[in-house]
Amino acid sequence: MAETMVKAPAADVSFINEVCSIPGGEAINSCIQCGVCTGSCPTASQWDNPPRRVIAMVRAGLRDELLSSNSMWFCVSCYSCTVRCPRDIKPADIMHALEIIAIRSGKSTKQSRTPIMYQCFVDSARGNGRVYELGMMIKLFLKTNPFSALKLAPVGLGLLLHKRLPLTPSRIKGMSDLKAILNKARELGGAK
Ligand code: SF4
Ligand code: SF4
Repeated sequence: MAETMVKAPAADVSFINEVCSIPGGEAINSCIQCGVCTGSCPTASQWDNPPRRVIAMVRAGLRDELLSSNSMWFCVSCYSCTVRCPRDIKPADIMHALEIIAIRSGKSTKQSRTPIMYQCFVDSARGNGRVYELGMMIKLFLKTNPFSALKLAPVGLGLLLHKRLPLTPSRIKGMSDLKAILNKARELGGAK
Protein backbone atom coordinates (compact mmCIF):
# COMPACT_ATOMS: atom_id res chain seq x y z
CA MET A 1 0.00 0.00 0.00
CA ALA A 2 1.41 3.39 -0.99
CA GLU A 3 2.24 5.75 1.84
CA THR A 4 0.36 9.03 2.01
CA MET A 5 2.43 12.19 2.15
CA VAL A 6 2.23 14.46 5.19
CA LYS A 7 1.21 18.01 4.48
CA ALA A 8 3.26 20.36 6.63
CA PRO A 9 1.28 22.95 8.62
CA ALA A 10 2.71 26.34 9.49
CA ALA A 11 6.29 25.96 10.69
CA ASP A 12 6.44 24.44 14.17
CA VAL A 13 10.04 23.73 14.96
CA SER A 14 9.58 22.98 18.66
CA PHE A 15 8.95 19.27 18.09
CA ILE A 16 11.92 18.99 15.71
CA ASN A 17 14.11 20.70 18.30
CA GLU A 18 12.82 18.36 21.00
CA VAL A 19 13.75 15.31 18.90
CA CYS A 20 17.12 16.84 17.91
CA SER A 21 17.97 17.40 21.57
CA ILE A 22 17.92 13.68 22.32
CA PRO A 23 21.00 11.66 21.34
CA GLY A 24 20.15 9.86 18.12
CA GLY A 25 17.62 12.43 17.01
CA GLU A 26 20.04 15.08 15.75
CA ALA A 27 20.13 14.11 12.06
CA ILE A 28 16.42 14.36 11.37
CA ASN A 29 16.79 17.54 9.32
CA SER A 30 18.94 15.75 6.73
CA CYS A 31 16.14 13.42 5.65
CA ILE A 32 15.26 13.63 1.95
CA GLN A 33 12.07 11.54 2.33
CA CYS A 34 13.28 8.88 -0.09
CA GLY A 35 11.39 6.11 1.74
CA VAL A 36 14.26 3.60 1.81
CA CYS A 37 13.76 3.21 5.57
CA THR A 38 10.10 2.25 5.14
CA GLY A 39 10.96 -0.12 2.29
CA SER A 40 13.61 -1.79 4.48
CA CYS A 41 11.52 -2.08 7.63
CA PRO A 42 10.24 -5.61 8.38
CA THR A 43 7.45 -4.36 10.66
CA ALA A 44 6.34 -1.24 8.74
CA SER A 45 3.00 -2.80 7.76
CA GLN A 46 2.03 -2.78 11.46
CA TRP A 47 2.86 0.87 12.08
CA ASP A 48 0.16 3.55 12.12
CA ASN A 49 2.79 5.71 10.42
CA PRO A 50 5.78 3.93 8.87
CA PRO A 51 9.34 5.23 9.37
CA ARG A 52 9.54 7.75 6.52
CA ARG A 53 6.21 9.19 7.56
CA VAL A 54 7.26 9.34 11.20
CA ILE A 55 10.12 11.62 10.19
CA ALA A 56 7.82 13.74 8.07
CA MET A 57 5.40 14.07 10.98
CA VAL A 58 8.14 15.26 13.32
CA ARG A 59 9.13 17.90 10.80
CA ALA A 60 5.48 18.88 10.36
CA GLY A 61 5.12 19.34 14.13
CA LEU A 62 2.42 16.67 14.51
CA ARG A 63 3.54 15.89 18.05
CA ASP A 64 0.38 14.62 19.73
CA GLU A 65 -0.77 12.61 16.74
CA LEU A 66 2.60 10.89 16.40
CA LEU A 67 3.28 10.29 20.09
CA SER A 68 -0.17 8.74 20.57
CA SER A 69 0.32 6.35 17.66
CA ASN A 70 1.79 2.87 17.80
CA SER A 71 4.48 3.77 15.27
CA MET A 72 7.87 3.88 16.96
CA TRP A 73 6.87 1.13 19.40
CA PHE A 74 6.93 -1.40 16.58
CA CYS A 75 10.60 -0.75 15.83
CA VAL A 76 12.48 -3.98 16.59
CA SER A 77 15.94 -2.37 16.29
CA CYS A 78 16.99 -4.48 13.31
CA TYR A 79 18.89 -1.44 11.90
CA SER A 80 18.09 -2.25 8.24
CA CYS A 81 16.97 1.36 7.81
CA THR A 82 20.14 2.64 9.39
CA VAL A 83 22.56 0.74 7.15
CA ARG A 84 20.60 1.67 4.01
CA CYS A 85 19.75 5.33 4.58
CA PRO A 86 21.47 7.37 1.84
CA ARG A 87 21.87 10.36 4.21
CA ASP A 88 23.50 8.42 7.07
CA ILE A 89 20.54 9.15 9.28
CA LYS A 90 19.83 6.58 11.97
CA PRO A 91 16.04 6.15 11.83
CA ALA A 92 16.16 3.48 14.56
CA ASP A 93 17.75 6.01 16.93
CA ILE A 94 15.08 8.55 16.01
CA MET A 95 12.40 5.97 16.87
CA HIS A 96 14.01 5.41 20.26
CA ALA A 97 14.26 9.17 20.81
CA LEU A 98 10.51 9.37 20.12
CA GLU A 99 9.85 6.57 22.58
CA ILE A 100 11.67 8.57 25.26
CA ILE A 101 9.64 11.69 24.46
CA ALA A 102 6.38 9.68 24.50
CA ILE A 103 7.20 8.22 27.93
CA ARG A 104 8.19 11.61 29.33
CA SER A 105 5.01 13.14 27.98
CA GLY A 106 2.78 10.42 29.38
CA LYS A 107 1.61 9.41 25.91
CA SER A 108 0.75 5.79 25.42
CA THR A 109 -0.70 3.35 22.96
CA LYS A 110 -2.77 0.29 23.80
CA GLN A 111 -1.58 -1.38 20.62
CA SER A 112 1.86 -2.30 21.93
CA ARG A 113 3.16 -3.76 25.19
CA THR A 114 6.65 -2.46 24.42
CA PRO A 115 6.48 0.67 26.64
CA ILE A 116 5.49 -1.45 29.66
CA MET A 117 8.14 -4.05 28.81
CA TYR A 118 10.84 -1.36 28.66
CA GLN A 119 9.81 -0.04 32.06
CA CYS A 120 9.82 -3.53 33.62
CA PHE A 121 13.26 -4.17 32.09
CA VAL A 122 14.73 -0.91 33.39
CA ASP A 123 13.19 -1.37 36.86
CA SER A 124 14.71 -4.83 37.09
CA ALA A 125 18.16 -3.71 35.90
CA ARG A 126 18.08 -0.70 38.19
CA GLY A 127 17.23 -2.84 41.21
CA ASN A 128 19.81 -5.59 40.76
CA GLY A 129 22.33 -4.40 38.19
CA ARG A 130 21.17 -7.14 35.87
CA VAL A 131 17.80 -8.26 34.66
CA TYR A 132 16.00 -10.82 36.80
CA GLU A 133 14.06 -12.46 33.99
CA LEU A 134 11.46 -14.32 36.02
CA GLY A 135 10.54 -11.28 38.10
CA MET A 136 10.49 -9.04 35.05
CA MET A 137 8.18 -11.36 33.09
CA ILE A 138 5.79 -11.81 36.04
CA LYS A 139 5.57 -8.02 36.41
CA LEU A 140 5.02 -7.60 32.67
CA PHE A 141 2.21 -10.17 32.53
CA LEU A 142 0.53 -8.73 35.63
CA LYS A 143 0.59 -5.26 34.06
CA THR A 144 -0.66 -6.42 30.66
CA ASN A 145 -2.47 -9.72 30.22
CA PRO A 146 -1.84 -12.36 32.91
CA PHE A 147 -3.52 -15.04 30.79
CA SER A 148 -0.95 -14.63 28.01
CA ALA A 149 1.62 -16.11 30.45
CA LEU A 150 -0.05 -19.49 29.92
CA LYS A 151 1.21 -19.58 26.33
CA LEU A 152 4.80 -19.17 27.52
CA ALA A 153 4.52 -21.57 30.46
CA PRO A 154 6.07 -24.54 28.56
CA VAL A 155 9.05 -22.38 27.53
CA GLY A 156 9.50 -21.14 31.11
CA LEU A 157 9.28 -24.68 32.46
CA GLY A 158 11.91 -25.88 29.99
CA LEU A 159 14.24 -23.05 31.01
CA LEU A 160 13.72 -23.84 34.69
CA LEU A 161 14.46 -27.53 34.15
CA HIS A 162 17.68 -26.64 32.32
CA LYS A 163 18.66 -24.18 35.06
CA ARG A 164 18.55 -21.27 32.61
CA LEU A 165 15.94 -19.30 34.57
CA PRO A 166 17.06 -18.39 38.11
CA LEU A 167 14.28 -18.47 40.70
CA THR A 168 15.82 -15.67 42.74
CA PRO A 169 17.49 -12.42 41.66
CA SER A 170 21.22 -11.87 42.04
CA ARG A 171 22.79 -8.48 42.49
CA ILE A 172 26.01 -7.34 40.84
CA LYS A 173 28.93 -5.78 42.65
CA GLY A 174 29.41 -2.11 41.96
CA MET A 175 25.77 -1.03 42.08
CA SER A 176 26.85 2.51 42.88
CA ASP A 177 28.86 2.68 39.62
CA LEU A 178 25.89 1.40 37.67
CA LYS A 179 23.59 3.93 39.30
CA ALA A 180 26.01 6.70 38.32
CA ILE A 181 25.88 5.50 34.69
CA LEU A 182 22.07 5.32 34.73
CA ASN A 183 21.82 8.77 36.28
CA LYS A 184 24.13 10.16 33.59
CA ALA A 185 22.01 8.51 30.89
CA ARG A 186 18.94 10.19 32.40
CA GLU A 187 20.73 13.52 32.46
CA LEU A 188 21.50 13.10 28.75
CA GLY A 189 17.85 12.60 27.96
CA GLY A 190 17.09 8.98 28.76
CA ALA A 191 13.74 7.98 30.19
CA LYS A 192 13.32 7.41 33.96
S1 SF4 B 1 16.05 6.39 4.27
FE1 SF4 B 1 16.97 8.13 5.33
S2 SF4 B 1 16.73 9.88 3.92
FE2 SF4 B 1 15.37 8.24 3.20
S3 SF4 B 1 13.36 8.71 4.16
FE3 SF4 B 1 14.43 7.28 5.52
S4 SF4 B 1 15.55 8.58 6.99
FE4 SF4 B 1 14.95 9.89 5.26
S1 SF4 C 1 15.46 -0.51 13.01
FE1 SF4 C 1 13.28 -0.21 13.42
S2 SF4 C 1 12.62 1.35 11.95
FE2 SF4 C 1 14.58 0.56 11.24
S3 SF4 C 1 14.05 -1.07 9.77
FE3 SF4 C 1 14.35 -2.05 11.78
S4 SF4 C 1 12.33 -2.13 12.71
FE4 SF4 C 1 12.20 -0.67 11.01
